[in-house]
Amino acid sequence: MAKIQMKTPLVEMDGDEMTRILWAMIKEKLILPYVDLKTEYYDLGLPERERTKDQVTIDAANANKKYGVAVKCATITPNRQRVEEYNLSEMWKSPNGTIRAILDGTVFRAPILIDSVKPQVRSWKKPITIARHAYGDVYKATEYRVPAEGKAELLFTAKDGTVMRETIYDFECAGVLQGQYNKDSSIVSFAHSCFKFALETKQDLWFSTKDTISKQYDQTFKLIFEEIYEKEYKAEFEKLGITYFYTLIDDAVARVIRSEGGFIWACKNYDGDVMSDMVSTAFGSLAMMTSVLVSPDGKFEYEAAHGTVTRHYYRYLKGEETSTNPMATIFAWTGALRKRGELDDLPDLMAFANRLEAACIKTLNDGIMTKDLVGLVEDGTPVTAVNSAAFMDAIAERI
Ligand code: NAP
Ligand code: MG
Repeated sequence: MAKIQMKTPLVEMDGDEMTRILWAMIKEKLILPYVDLKTEYYDLGLPERERTKDQVTIDAANANKKYGVAVKCATITPNRQRVEEYNLSEMWKSPNGTIRAILDGTVFRAPILIDSVKPQVRSWKKPITIARHAYGDVYKATEYRVPAEGKAELLFTAKDGTVMRETIYDFECAGVLQGQYNKDSSIVSFAHSCFKFALETKQDLWFSTKDTISKQYDQTFKLIFEEIYEKEYKAEFEKLGITYFYTLIDDAVARVIRSEGGFIWACKNYDGDVMSDMVSTAFGSLAMMTSVLVSPDGKFEYEAAHGTVTRHYYRYLKGEETSTNPMATIFAWTGALRKRGELDDLPDLMAFANRLEAACIKTLNDGIMTKDLVGLVEDGTPVTAVNSAAFMDAIAERI
């Protein structure tokens, strides 16, 4: 059989621990036999980030900007324990944070659904994709404890010296104080990424804030979205028959729970943090969550939402077989290959991505799955728990 040809290389970002092992296996068993794979390879594994003083992450992000489509393996975000374990010269920043900052992108997380694992919320039939504005607000806030009685003020000094000043509260006792900010430019990028991704995936877009209470701050988010939608996206949305819908966060929560799914829910930073954990838990398993970073100018980086699955890796290093679920990482590859196919007009490559996804779903529907999923099957489907390699072999048989 002739292998499927590619034109533009995919930016391949390798990673750490168990997912790095899965990465190599996915390529060997599920991609290289069928595709004449063209990638520009960047090793984002921690040893290479240390060796290059993290330059490799920056280079990879710039390559993503240049070529448009990347696929990324999970990577370790170093903490103090990792600094010791890997003998690091510095606590390197999260690669995802670095890439997101360079692409100015928004992360969209969506679950992979299978028949035998039912979401906790009975009405959900289709995936719910959460878009989190990963910039500013409480995550970049300045805060301190107010020690005693006194006046708290909000002060802004413009470049020309003009001052805006407002009393926040006249404290009659000790308390707490916090200052948050966001930037129009970041909200604009967030809005473009959301509208683009809705068009891309042909799904409705919901956006929610608390603008009734936050009449300047949250209202700004609402107005920026509205203006960009009216000016730049409305016509295309109408042509596709999809809608943009703004509502209060309280109302959004109620509607999401009652919905069938099948839409994108754009959230401010904190709401997105909390709601994405809620939605992914209710859909079943972190191992079945995909994630894609979309920049406002339409660059894509596909990955799994989970981490490097450290506990499994330590077992692997001891020579034990592990049953780590490769689904989200495989879907990162298929997402990226399909996107590459679409941009380069390669229908065979797109068809291959669809075929591989279908083979994965068929494998799970046939009851062959990794251990994490076995416990989630409630409908009596007979299941066999297999290790990661056997799971991929079963997928390959079905391609
Ligand atoms: P994790 O790697 O997502 O794993 C947490 C637990 O979830 C695992 O121990 C495992 O539970 C289960 N799990 C996650 N993915 C699975 C899969 N594919 N198959 C089967 N089980 C799976 O999160 P973590 O342990 O908090 O983080 C580990 C490392 O990943 C950290 O260094 C962190 O910095 C990094 N991280 C990277 C990314 C990224 O690159 N996007 C995201 C998050 C975390 P059991 O052990 O109970 O089986
Ligand atoms: Mg969270």
